[in-house]
Amino acid sequence: MTNIHSTRKREVLVSGASVAGLALAYWLNRHGFAVTVVEKAATVRNGGYPIDVRGTALDVVERMGILPRLRDAHVDLRRMTFLDEGGGQVASVRPGTVTGDTEGRDLEVRRGDLSEALHATVRHDAEFLFGDSIDVLDQSGDGVDVTFRGGARRTFDLVFGADGMHSRTRERLFGPEHLFDRYLGYCFAVFTMRNTFGLSRELVMWNTPGRAAALYATGDDDEQVHAFLNFARPRRPFDEFPTPEAQRDLVASVFADAGWEVPGMLAAMREADDLFFDTVAQIRLPRWSSGRVALVGDAAYAPSFLTGQGTSLALVGAYMLAGSLANQDHAAGFAAYERDTRAFVTQNQDLVDEGGATLFPTTAEALEQRNDRLRGLTTLRGAEAVSAHSALTLPDFMSLT
Ligand SMILES: Cc1cc2nc3c(=O)[nH]c(=O)nc-3n(C[C@H](O)[C@H](O)[C@H](O)COP(=O)(O)OP(=O)(O)OC[C@H]3O[C@@H](n4cnc5c(N)ncnc54)[C@H](O)[C@@H]3O)c2cc1C
Repeated sequence: MTNIHSTRKREVLVSGASVAGLALAYWLNRHGFAVTVVEKAATVRNGGYPIDVRGTALDVVERMGILPRLRDAHVDLRRMTFLDEGGGQVASVRPGTVTGDTEGRDLEVRRGDLSEALHATVRHDAEFLFGDSIDVLDQSGDGVDVTFRGGARRTFDLVFGADGMHSRTRERLFGPEHLFDRYLGYCFAVFTMRNTFGLSRELVMWNTPGRAAALYATGDDDEQVHAFLNFARPRRPFDEFPTPEAQRDLVASVFADAGWEVPGMLAAMREADDLFFDTVAQIRLPRWSSGRVALVGDAAYAPSFLTGQGTSLALVGAYMLAGSLANQDHAAGFAAYERDTRAFVTQNQDLVDEGGATLFPTTAEALEQRNDRLRGLTTLRGAEAVSAHSALTLPDFMSLT
């Protein structure tokens, strides 16, 4: 093992300033690294859709000192209402019934609130390069030579890809995304639209077999709601529908005959300037690092929103990666990160299967079964999920630093 304490401060670059990148920057700084973060957007993104922080990830945010702030930002959804094809109510339940969350402990916060809280922990202790990205990574020398899109060239001891599901860093290390993504058989579109429905801290979801439309109000009487359209599709759509316009047309055709508020949602989708269309997929990689470059969060192991665990895996992964490097060289540290984190990641990724999402049944029979469970107030997400959320006990890396 290299005696890393006798050497100068290691200089590292993190690509991506979202959940994984900001948490990683914080913990690397705490462990004595000189951290630079490069983010292609102009600022920390403040997209408002709600994300979950549960189980082991709550211990991470507690150790970062931001748990009270996140508790204040907790969305505290009042209810979830499920509708049938004609818009009639099937069931109206407490959110914990569906998510399996431990009330009073697990958190749901707007993604922007989490990013801001994470950024505040490290904004003065790391260098931030917004509006730029990595163009070339060259590992042929002693460190990693990086050429930025903006033209600058610098050498770092280590580089981290925290650049999300469609990570360019992963592509550079291991090849194109299709080699590693596990398509789960659904596509979705999300966007915001005017809250003309009087919704307040609640979610309303309409389902037919293979199709779901939902409206989600995260605040009290907010002017905007999050609109969500999800549908089953056996094959990935991108070859046939490569452009945003074609993807809008695909969504519109899938929901063309739908009732309830869906026609208004489709009209709003056409106008939306924040439409996000993607497939529901996971990233499964045989290795999370190569040489002096490692991946974290969705870039390495996106579990898909069906698990609700993407944010929690990103937080826990960042903590484990930084801590694993605290007192050893990168080769030993990257190996320890994988050894100690992979089982937790796999257990959470395994919570969903292709086409098997409980919230989005693809057959009439499965939909009826789901509705029966909702009417009986049986939790949809069982003990298996709750144990997966907490399946890792955080080591105390600070005592090593
Ligand atoms: C619609 C939707 C709903 C979701 N709902 C939930 C939920 O309910 N619960 C949950 O836990 N998770 C949910 N997720 C998933 C969750 O958002 C992600 O799992 C989580 O944000 C992972 O964080 P990350 O930092 O790894 O990646 P991301 O949040 O994707 O961040 C990647 C960052 O890298 C930046 N970037 C990308 N490419 C480059 C580049 N080349 N150079 C520099 N920067 C770059 C991006 O701008 C971004 O800031 C949802 C995701 C979506 C899209």
